[in-house]
Amino acid sequence: MKTKEFTVNQIPSSTMPIHYNEELCVGCNRCVDVCQCDILFPNEEKGKTPLVMYPGECYYCGACVMVCPNKGAITLQHPLMNQAKFVEIK
Ligand code: SF4
Ligand code: SF4
Repeated sequence: MKTKEFTVNQIPSSTMPIHYNEELCVGCNRCVDVCQCDILFPNEEKGKTPLVMYPGECYYCGACVMVCPNKGAITLQHPLMNQAKFVEIK
């Protein structure tokens, strides 16, 4: 079968929802496969940490974190405004 090579450029975004720990990640790409929005992309170097291609399109479902076999290899950070907690004024 004939293979086709291509390159892609990461899209800049003001949000960075996904963070990888390169020391814990084994590059199995399970997180890439589970993402329904195709935000993550396999590294062209086999066994290396995937790339966060379209961070602005992430809808914070957490599937990529849940499927990862190595705890701490991938973490999800919600936008600051979604981390706010409203407390009742006494
Ligand atoms: S599922 Fe976990 S170990 Fe596998 S590539 Fe993603 S972050 Fe790395
Ligand atoms: S949190 Fe959900 S949408 Fe965002 S990268 Fe992970 S799997 Fe994809």
